[in-house]
Amino acid sequence: MSSPLGSSQTSSESPIDFRIAIIGGGICGLVLAHGLNKYAHIDYNIYEAAESTSDIGAGISFGANGQNALKIINSSAFAAFEKHATRNKTSSSPDVWCKYVIGKGDGAGNEIFTLTADGGFRSFHRSNFLGELFEAVPSERVHFGKQCVRIEDNEGSPVIIHFSDGTTATADAIIGADGIHSTIRSQVVGENTGKPEYTGCAAYRGLIDMDLAIKTMGPNVQNSRIACGPGSAIVSYPIEDGKTLNIVLCDFEYGEWNHEDWIAPVVWDEIEKRFSGWEDNCQGLIKLMKADNHQAWSLWQVPSLPTFYKGRVALIGDSAHAMTPFAGQGVAQGLEDVLVLEKLLGTLTDNDKALDIERVLSAYDKVRRPRSQDIVKLSRETGQLFALQLAGIGDDREAIASHHLGNTQKLGHPNLQKQIHEAIGWSSASEADPARLCHLDLATGNVPKEDSDSE
Ligand code: FAD
Repeated sequence: MSSPLGSSQTSSESPIDFRIAIIGGGICGLVLAHGLNKYAHIDYNIYEAAESTSDIGAGISFGANGQNALKIINSSAFAAFEKHATRNKTSSSPDVWCKYVIGKGDGAGNEIFTLTADGGFRSFHRSNFLGELFEAVPSERVHFGKQCVRIEDNEGSPVIIHFSDGTTATADAIIGADGIHSTIRSQVVGENTGKPEYTGCAAYRGLIDMDLAIKTMGPNVQNSRIACGPGSAIVSYPIEDGKTLNIVLCDFEYGEWNHEDWIAPVVWDEIEKRFSGWEDNCQGLIKLMKADNHQAWSLWQVPSLPTFYKGRVALIGDSAHAMTPFAGQGVAQGLEDVLVLEKLLGTLTDNDKALDIERVLSAYDKVRRPRSQDIVKLSRETGQLFALQLAGIGDDREAIASHHLGNTQKLGHPNLQKQIHEAIGWSSASEADPARLCHLDLATGNVPKEDSDSE
């Protein structure tokens, strides 16, 4: 027999008018919860398929646009990030984001350019960040072991969520934050649309004890660095407060993926062969990674969807636009989704619930879909740039630098404010409280504290 979960929060004494179900407790689902914590008129529940917070994954770094979005969404989410954010250790300036070098070929070892950004590089271990985000969400709102298999969105009644264990829950709106293999996506765009596409690229990942790395490679190994070479790149940066070196070997020419799973074992000799002839620093990283149990992570992306919402159901994060990791934008674009969506949900009124929800989800779709889908393309292109294969640029160091800089500027923080204003405009929320719009200091990217979490 099915039992309703999270469906009885509204009471006559409560100011809560809207019940939001978040399907998936990854970074985007959890940060959305932090954002919704600000609104007295919104009740939310997270339904996560996993039985607990345990999470694989390794180091992640995301763009300054994502960090700024996080700051605006809620200071609690930003504090969770800050607690585990690791910076470069010996860079010439605290603003250094990453040093790009030629990994192989003419000028191997030479610097292409060094990217700087306010506050410099910050990375984290995914599971540390997730753990911290979970801590700050009331436990009664998080339901583990709840794999959504289907939803019913029938006019005139709440949306019904069906779980694999036979139970159900209801809500006024559903946000699918269920990742690249999303179940909710097919509810929005249909069974035959939006299936993830393999990109022909794979990554091999290593986590190395930093003391060992420093001993063999010197102190500068503690700074983020990307070595670009023909068909491949080597990304390295510190995580876990500098205790661990995160290394990602990117193979842009992996070729066909003939494995059942998206992760498959790989023979170490093949990796060594792929990176033979790379400059000394890269050889040092490869030696550090040497092990018998490496796996190739195939890289997939979600093709451009025709919509991010249908009725009272919307998609955020990887379920909407999973992308390659080359531009550090997977999480950042998800956080831009959350920022725009939570600001819109903040404008919900109780005139006509269903209409009101469609109003904000449609505005969310109009603003977030074009931007995030552009970034999916930009991310693929960044891979080609790192592989020295971008048409018209190849291994021309100056052209690589100026192209990458141009792309980075497209991701800049002024865009956040613009998206929020456009979204509020699209939603025709005449009653939108201006205090709920963000006041982002365009010069610094800072958000005054009272604007980030005061509602
Ligand atoms: P997820 O993190 O996938 O979370 C989805 C959650 O939903 C999971 O907890 C899952 O258990 C749950 N779920 C799934 N289905 C259901 C269901 N039916 N019912 C209930 N729950 C469900 N991005 C960056 O920004 N920077 C990087 O450096 C970076 N590096 C990467 C390296 C690699 C090799 C890969 C593969 C990705 C990388 N990414 C990076 C991408 C980044 O990991 C994703 O963009 C991000 O994690 C997406 O977050 P999400 O919350 O949308 O989805």
